Amino acid sequence: MGSPHASSVEAVGLVRRFDGTAALDRVSLRIPENSFYCLLGPSGCGKTTLLRLIAGLDTPDEGRVLIGGRDHTATPAHRRPTNLVFQSGALFPHMSVRDNIDFGLRSAGVRGPRARERVEESLELVAMGEFADRMPQTLSGGQRQRVAIARSLVKRPDVLLLDEPLSALDLSLQLHMRRELKRWQQETGTTFVCVTHNQAEAMEMADEIAVMRAGRIEQAAAPEHLYEAPATRFVADFIGENNVFTGLAADRGGARADHVFFPGVDADLVSALAVRPERIRLVDPGAPESAGTARVVTVGFTGRTLRIGLTNESGRELLAELPAGTRVQAGDTVGLAFDPDAVVRIPARDTEAAA
Ligand code: ATP
Repeated sequence: MGSPHASSVEAVGLVRRFDGTAALDRVSLRIPENSFYCLLGPSGCGKTTLLRLIAGLDTPDEGRVLIGGRDHTATPAHRRPTNLVFQSGALFPHMSVRDNIDFGLRSAGVRGPRARERVEESLELVAMGEFADRMPQTLSGGQRQRVAIARSLVKRPDVLLLDEPLSALDLSLQLHMRRELKRWQQETGTTFVCVTHNQAEAMEMADEIAVMRAGRIEQAAAPEHLYEAPATRFVADFIGENNVFTGLAADRGGARADHVFFPGVDADLVSALAVRPERIRLVDPGAPESAGTARVVTVGFTGRTLRIGLTNESGRELLAELPAGTRVQAGDTVGLAFDPDAVVRIPARDTEAAA
Protein backbone atom coordinates (compact mmCIF):
# COMPACT_ATOMS: atom_id res chain seq x y z
CA MET A 1 0.00 0.00 0.00
CA GLY A 2 1.32 3.40 -1.00
CA SER A 3 4.91 4.24 -0.27
CA PRO A 4 7.45 1.53 0.58
CA HIS A 5 7.66 3.02 4.07
CA ALA A 6 3.90 3.01 4.58
CA SER A 7 4.12 1.71 8.11
CA SER A 8 6.90 3.87 9.54
CA VAL A 9 5.99 6.36 12.26
CA GLU A 10 7.81 9.53 13.07
CA ALA A 11 7.29 11.88 16.00
CA VAL A 12 8.90 15.26 15.53
CA GLY A 13 9.29 17.52 18.56
CA LEU A 14 6.00 16.48 20.17
CA VAL A 15 4.87 18.54 23.13
CA ARG A 16 1.66 17.84 25.06
CA ARG A 17 0.83 19.86 28.13
CA PHE A 18 -1.87 19.21 30.70
CA ASP A 19 -2.60 22.14 33.03
CA GLY A 20 0.72 23.73 32.13
CA THR A 21 2.76 20.60 32.84
CA ALA A 22 4.40 18.85 29.92
CA ALA A 23 3.37 15.19 29.78
CA LEU A 24 5.51 15.05 26.63
CA ASP A 25 8.44 17.40 26.34
CA ARG A 26 9.82 17.65 22.78
CA VAL A 27 9.70 13.98 21.95
CA SER A 28 11.25 12.94 18.65
CA LEU A 29 11.26 9.35 17.54
CA ARG A 30 11.50 7.25 14.40
CA ILE A 31 9.74 3.91 14.36
CA PRO A 32 10.90 1.82 11.39
CA GLU A 33 8.32 0.16 9.16
CA ASN A 34 7.46 -3.46 9.78
CA SER A 35 8.95 -3.41 13.26
CA PHE A 36 7.91 -4.29 16.77
CA TYR A 37 8.48 -1.13 18.76
CA CYS A 38 7.97 -0.73 22.51
CA LEU A 39 7.47 2.45 24.48
CA LEU A 40 8.81 1.55 27.92
CA GLY A 41 8.91 3.53 31.13
CA PRO A 42 7.52 3.94 34.63
CA SER A 43 3.97 5.02 35.37
CA GLY A 44 3.21 8.58 34.32
CA CYS A 45 6.20 9.02 31.99
CA GLY A 46 3.96 9.82 28.99
CA LYS A 47 3.75 6.50 27.11
CA THR A 48 -0.02 6.50 26.68
CA THR A 49 -0.03 10.19 25.82
CA LEU A 50 2.44 9.49 23.00
CA LEU A 51 0.41 6.51 21.76
CA ARG A 52 -2.78 8.61 21.70
CA LEU A 53 -1.04 11.30 19.67
CA ILE A 54 0.05 8.68 17.13
CA ALA A 55 -3.52 7.30 17.04
CA GLY A 56 -4.99 10.76 16.56
CA LEU A 57 -7.09 10.54 19.74
CA ASP A 58 -5.37 13.64 21.03
CA THR A 59 -3.67 16.66 19.45
CA PRO A 60 -0.15 17.85 20.28
CA ASP A 61 0.49 21.41 21.47
CA GLU A 62 3.62 21.40 19.34
CA GLY A 63 5.28 19.05 16.88
CA ARG A 64 4.15 16.66 14.19
CA VAL A 65 3.21 13.04 13.64
CA LEU A 66 4.24 11.42 10.34
CA ILE A 67 2.98 8.01 9.29
CA GLY A 68 4.42 6.44 6.18
CA GLY A 69 6.28 9.69 5.62
CA ARG A 70 3.06 11.73 5.42
CA ASP A 71 2.11 14.41 7.90
CA HIS A 72 -0.94 13.15 9.78
CA THR A 73 -0.87 15.65 12.65
CA ALA A 74 -4.26 17.06 11.67
CA THR A 75 -5.82 13.80 10.42
CA PRO A 76 -8.70 12.55 12.62
CA ALA A 77 -8.21 9.13 14.23
CA HIS A 78 -10.57 7.20 11.93
CA ARG A 79 -8.80 8.48 8.82
CA ARG A 80 -5.31 7.42 9.98
CA PRO A 81 -3.74 4.12 8.88
CA THR A 82 -3.52 3.15 12.54
CA ASN A 83 -5.62 1.12 14.92
CA LEU A 84 -5.52 1.18 18.71
CA VAL A 85 -6.15 -1.88 20.87
CA PHE A 86 -7.19 -0.77 24.33
CA GLN A 87 -5.89 -2.28 27.55
CA SER A 88 -9.22 -3.90 28.40
CA GLY A 89 -9.76 -4.99 24.79
CA ALA A 90 -13.49 -4.24 25.25
CA LEU A 91 -15.67 -6.42 22.97
CA PHE A 92 -19.36 -6.00 22.16
CA PRO A 93 -21.02 -8.34 24.68
CA HIS A 94 -24.10 -9.08 22.55
CA MET A 95 -22.08 -10.18 19.47
CA SER A 96 -20.31 -13.48 18.80
CA VAL A 97 -16.55 -13.56 18.36
CA ARG A 98 -16.96 -13.68 14.58
CA ASP A 99 -19.42 -10.77 14.54
CA ASN A 100 -17.15 -8.71 16.78
CA ILE A 101 -14.35 -9.09 14.26
CA ASP A 102 -16.64 -8.59 11.28
CA PHE A 103 -18.07 -5.41 12.80
CA GLY A 104 -14.68 -3.73 12.55
CA LEU A 105 -14.51 -4.53 8.86
CA ARG A 106 -18.04 -3.42 8.08
CA SER A 107 -17.39 -0.11 9.78
CA ALA A 108 -14.41 0.21 7.42
CA GLY A 109 -16.73 -0.49 4.44
CA VAL A 110 -15.54 -4.03 3.60
CA ARG A 111 -18.41 -6.51 3.08
CA GLY A 112 -19.33 -9.75 1.26
CA PRO A 113 -17.15 -12.81 0.57
CA ARG A 114 -13.95 -10.83 0.78
CA ALA A 115 -14.86 -9.67 4.27
CA ARG A 116 -15.75 -13.24 5.32
CA GLU A 117 -12.40 -14.47 4.08
CA ARG A 118 -10.54 -11.82 6.02
CA VAL A 119 -12.48 -12.52 9.20
CA GLU A 120 -11.63 -16.23 8.97
CA GLU A 121 -7.98 -15.39 8.30
CA SER A 122 -7.83 -13.21 11.40
CA LEU A 123 -9.51 -15.88 13.51
CA GLU A 124 -6.89 -18.37 12.33
CA LEU A 125 -4.02 -16.00 12.98
CA VAL A 126 -4.94 -15.61 16.65
CA ALA A 127 -5.94 -19.30 16.94
CA MET A 128 -9.58 -18.52 17.78
CA GLY A 129 -11.23 -20.31 14.84
CA GLU A 130 -12.96 -22.87 17.04
CA PHE A 131 -14.40 -20.11 19.24
CA ALA A 132 -15.91 -18.10 16.40
CA ASP A 133 -19.52 -18.62 17.51
CA ARG A 134 -18.93 -18.08 21.21
CA MET A 135 -20.08 -14.97 23.05
CA PRO A 136 -17.40 -12.81 24.72
CA GLN A 137 -18.57 -13.49 28.30
CA THR A 138 -17.86 -17.21 27.79
CA LEU A 139 -14.19 -16.54 26.95
CA SER A 140 -11.19 -16.23 29.23
CA GLY A 141 -9.35 -12.93 29.54
CA GLY A 142 -6.60 -14.14 27.25
CA GLN A 143 -9.06 -15.29 24.62
CA ARG A 144 -10.88 -11.96 24.74
CA GLN A 145 -7.59 -10.16 24.24
CA ARG A 146 -6.86 -12.33 21.19
CA VAL A 147 -10.24 -11.42 19.71
CA ALA A 148 -9.65 -7.72 20.38
CA ILE A 149 -6.36 -7.89 18.52
CA ALA A 150 -7.91 -9.87 15.65
CA ARG A 151 -10.63 -7.21 15.41
CA SER A 152 -7.95 -4.57 14.91
CA LEU A 153 -5.73 -6.60 12.58
CA VAL A 154 -8.63 -7.56 10.30
CA LYS A 155 -8.72 -3.95 9.11
CA ARG A 156 -5.10 -4.35 8.02
CA PRO A 157 -3.87 -1.12 9.54
CA ASP A 158 -0.34 -0.08 8.60
CA VAL A 159 0.33 0.49 12.27
CA LEU A 160 -1.20 -1.37 15.23
CA LEU A 161 -1.05 0.50 18.52
CA LEU A 162 -1.27 -1.54 21.73
CA ASP A 163 -1.66 -0.05 25.19
CA GLU A 164 -0.44 -2.48 27.87
CA PRO A 165 -2.02 -5.40 25.98
CA LEU A 166 -0.86 -8.10 28.41
CA SER A 167 -1.17 -6.38 31.78
CA ALA A 168 -4.57 -7.91 32.62
CA LEU A 169 -3.39 -11.48 32.00
CA ASP A 170 -1.82 -13.85 34.50
CA LEU A 171 1.92 -14.36 34.30
CA SER A 172 2.07 -17.65 32.41
CA LEU A 173 -0.38 -16.34 29.82
CA GLN A 174 1.63 -13.12 29.51
CA LEU A 175 4.74 -15.13 28.75
CA HIS A 176 2.91 -17.08 26.05
CA MET A 177 1.24 -14.01 24.55
CA ARG A 178 4.59 -12.19 24.23
CA ARG A 179 5.63 -14.78 21.68
CA GLU A 180 2.24 -14.75 20.01
CA LEU A 181 2.28 -10.97 19.56
CA LYS A 182 5.76 -11.18 18.11
CA ARG A 183 4.65 -13.89 15.66
CA TRP A 184 1.58 -11.91 14.58
CA GLN A 185 3.73 -8.88 13.95
CA GLN A 186 6.10 -10.90 11.79
CA GLU A 187 3.34 -12.69 9.90
CA THR A 188 1.34 -9.56 9.09
CA GLY A 189 4.24 -7.16 8.46
CA THR A 190 2.23 -4.55 10.35
CA THR A 191 4.24 -2.17 12.53
CA PHE A 192 3.36 -2.81 16.18
CA VAL A 193 3.81 0.03 18.66
CA CYS A 194 3.32 -1.33 22.15
CA VAL A 195 3.18 0.57 25.43
CA THR A 196 4.46 -1.30 28.47
CA HIS A 197 6.01 -0.65 31.85
CA ASN A 198 7.39 -4.21 31.96
CA GLN A 199 11.00 -4.24 30.85
CA ALA A 200 11.23 -8.03 30.43
CA GLU A 201 8.20 -7.93 28.16
CA ALA A 202 9.66 -5.12 26.06
CA MET A 203 13.04 -6.84 25.85
CA GLU A 204 11.51 -10.09 24.64
CA MET A 205 9.15 -8.63 22.04
CA ALA A 206 10.71 -5.51 20.65
CA ASP A 207 13.03 -4.88 17.73
CA GLU A 208 13.55 -1.46 19.25
CA ILE A 209 12.63 0.13 22.56
CA ALA A 210 12.24 3.79 23.50
CA VAL A 211 12.87 4.15 27.23
CA MET A 212 10.86 7.11 28.49
CA ARG A 213 11.16 9.11 31.65
CA ALA A 214 9.21 12.19 32.73
CA GLY A 215 7.96 13.09 29.26
CA ARG A 216 11.24 12.52 27.49
CA ILE A 217 13.05 9.75 25.69
CA GLU A 218 16.12 8.66 27.61
CA GLN A 219 17.37 6.26 24.95
CA ALA A 220 15.90 4.51 21.92
CA ALA A 221 17.73 1.44 20.66
CA ALA A 222 17.59 -2.31 20.12
CA PRO A 223 17.13 -4.34 23.35
CA GLU A 224 20.66 -5.76 23.19
CA HIS A 225 22.09 -2.28 22.84
CA LEU A 226 20.10 -0.89 25.78
CA TYR A 227 21.27 -3.83 27.84
CA GLU A 228 24.92 -3.68 26.86
CA ALA A 229 25.36 0.07 26.52
CA PRO A 230 22.85 2.06 28.58
CA ALA A 231 23.34 5.75 27.79
CA THR A 232 22.14 7.00 31.15
CA ARG A 233 22.02 5.78 34.69
CA PHE A 234 18.23 5.63 34.52
CA VAL A 235 18.38 3.22 31.59
CA ALA A 236 21.05 1.14 33.33
CA ASP A 237 18.78 0.80 36.35
CA PHE A 238 15.55 0.30 34.44
CA ILE A 239 16.68 -2.28 31.91
CA GLY A 240 17.18 -5.44 33.91
CA GLU A 241 19.20 -5.63 37.06
CA ASN A 242 22.44 -3.82 37.37
CA ASN A 243 25.03 -3.05 39.98
CA VAL A 244 25.49 0.68 39.53
CA PHE A 245 28.56 2.24 41.14
CA THR A 246 28.70 5.98 41.70
CA GLY A 247 30.89 8.37 43.66
CA LEU A 248 33.94 7.49 41.66
CA ALA A 249 37.35 8.73 42.69
CA ALA A 250 40.43 8.75 40.51
CA ASP A 251 42.97 6.15 41.51
CA ARG A 252 46.31 5.15 40.10
CA GLY A 253 45.61 3.32 36.85
CA GLY A 254 41.87 3.36 37.28
CA ALA A 255 38.93 4.50 39.40
CA ARG A 256 37.54 3.47 42.75
CA ALA A 257 33.94 3.47 43.95
CA ASP A 258 32.57 1.85 47.09
CA HIS A 259 35.81 -0.04 47.74
CA VAL A 260 35.79 -1.58 44.30
CA PHE A 261 38.68 -0.85 41.94
CA PHE A 262 38.06 -0.56 38.21
CA PRO A 263 41.31 -0.74 36.26
CA GLY A 264 41.63 1.43 33.19
CA VAL A 265 38.60 3.61 33.96
CA ASP A 266 39.03 7.39 33.81
CA ALA A 267 36.79 8.66 36.62
CA ASP A 268 36.54 12.12 35.06
CA LEU A 269 34.83 10.79 31.95
CA VAL A 270 32.14 8.75 33.63
CA SER A 271 29.41 9.48 36.15
CA ALA A 272 28.73 5.87 37.01
CA LEU A 273 29.74 2.32 36.21
CA ALA A 274 27.39 -0.59 35.83
CA VAL A 275 28.08 -4.29 36.08
CA ARG A 276 25.45 -6.95 35.34
CA PRO A 277 24.97 -9.58 38.07
CA GLU A 278 25.90 -12.38 35.66
CA ARG A 279 29.20 -10.67 34.82
CA ILE A 280 30.50 -10.71 38.40
CA ARG A 281 32.79 -13.59 39.31
CA LEU A 282 33.52 -14.61 42.85
CA VAL A 283 37.20 -15.32 43.47
CA ASP A 284 39.48 -15.87 46.41
CA PRO A 285 39.66 -12.59 48.41
CA GLY A 286 43.44 -12.58 48.02
CA ALA A 287 43.46 -13.37 44.29
CA PRO A 288 45.24 -10.83 42.08
CA GLU A 289 42.13 -10.26 39.96
CA SER A 290 40.01 -9.40 43.01
CA ALA A 291 38.69 -5.83 42.62
CA GLY A 292 37.36 -5.72 46.16
CA THR A 293 35.96 -8.01 48.79
CA ALA A 294 32.43 -8.69 49.93
CA ARG A 295 30.47 -10.88 52.29
CA VAL A 296 27.84 -13.30 51.00
CA VAL A 297 24.51 -12.47 52.68
CA THR A 298 21.97 -14.54 50.77
CA VAL A 299 22.04 -17.38 48.26
CA GLY A 300 18.83 -17.96 46.29
CA PHE A 301 18.22 -20.82 43.89
CA THR A 302 16.31 -20.04 40.67
CA GLY A 303 16.79 -23.32 38.78
CA ARG A 304 19.51 -22.43 36.33
CA THR A 305 21.36 -19.94 38.51
CA LEU A 306 22.14 -18.86 42.03
CA ARG A 307 21.29 -15.28 42.95
CA ILE A 308 23.80 -14.11 45.46
CA GLY A 309 23.27 -11.08 47.66
CA LEU A 310 26.53 -9.49 48.76
CA THR A 311 27.57 -6.60 50.97
CA ASN A 312 30.96 -5.10 50.34
CA GLU A 313 33.38 -3.25 52.64
CA SER A 314 31.55 0.06 52.33
CA GLY A 315 28.21 -1.56 53.13
CA ARG A 316 27.03 -1.47 49.56
CA GLU A 317 24.66 -4.20 48.46
CA LEU A 318 25.48 -6.07 45.26
CA LEU A 319 23.85 -8.85 43.33
CA ALA A 320 25.72 -11.62 41.52
CA GLU A 321 24.19 -14.37 39.44
CA LEU A 322 26.22 -17.54 39.07
CA PRO A 323 25.60 -20.94 37.54
CA ALA A 324 23.67 -23.34 39.78
CA GLY A 325 26.11 -25.66 41.46
CA THR A 326 28.60 -22.92 42.37
CA ARG A 327 29.94 -23.60 45.83
CA VAL A 328 29.11 -20.59 47.95
CA GLN A 329 27.20 -20.01 51.15
CA ALA A 330 25.99 -17.19 53.34
CA GLY A 331 28.77 -15.88 55.55
CA ASP A 332 31.58 -16.50 53.04
CA THR A 333 34.01 -13.68 52.35
CA VAL A 334 34.77 -13.50 48.65
CA GLY A 335 36.69 -11.42 46.16
CA LEU A 336 34.79 -9.70 43.33
CA ALA A 337 36.19 -9.92 39.84
CA PHE A 338 34.94 -8.85 36.46
CA ASP A 339 36.44 -8.63 33.02
CA PRO A 340 37.10 -5.12 31.67
CA ASP A 341 34.41 -5.59 29.01
CA ALA A 342 31.83 -6.37 31.70
CA VAL A 343 32.02 -2.83 33.03
CA VAL A 344 29.66 -0.38 31.33
CA ARG A 345 30.70 3.25 31.51
CA ILE A 346 27.91 5.79 31.84
CA PRO A 347 29.02 9.09 30.33
CA ALA A 348 29.55 12.01 32.70
CA ARG A 349 27.40 14.31 30.56
CA ASP A 350 24.36 12.43 31.83
CA THR A 351 25.07 13.12 35.47
CA GLU A 352 22.60 16.00 35.81
CA ALA A 353 19.89 14.46 33.67
CA ALA A 354 20.05 11.21 35.61
CA ALA A 355 20.44 12.69 39.09
P1 ATP B 1 0.84 4.62 32.99
O1 ATP B 1 1.86 3.55 32.76
O2 ATP B 1 0.56 4.84 34.45
O3 ATP B 1 -0.38 4.48 32.16
P2 ATP B 1 1.94 6.59 31.16
O4 ATP B 1 3.40 6.56 30.99
O5 ATP B 1 1.09 5.99 30.11
O6 ATP B 1 1.56 6.00 32.57
P3 ATP B 1 0.46 8.98 30.63
O7 ATP B 1 -0.89 8.36 30.83
O8 ATP B 1 0.88 9.29 29.27
O9 ATP B 1 1.56 8.11 31.36
O10 ATP B 1 0.50 10.31 31.50
C1 ATP B 1 1.60 11.21 31.52
C2 ATP B 1 1.31 12.37 32.45
O11 ATP B 1 0.29 13.17 31.88
C3 ATP B 1 0.82 11.96 33.83
O12 ATP B 1 1.38 12.83 34.77
C4 ATP B 1 -0.67 12.13 33.74
O13 ATP B 1 -1.22 12.43 35.00
C5 ATP B 1 -0.80 13.30 32.79
N1 ATP B 1 -2.05 13.22 32.00
C6 ATP B 1 -2.33 12.31 31.04
N2 ATP B 1 -3.55 12.54 30.49
C7 ATP B 1 -4.05 13.61 31.13
C8 ATP B 1 -5.29 14.35 31.02
N3 ATP B 1 -6.21 14.02 30.15
N4 ATP B 1 -5.45 15.41 31.84
C9 ATP B 1 -4.50 15.77 32.75
N5 ATP B 1 -3.32 15.11 32.88
C10 ATP B 1 -3.09 14.06 32.10
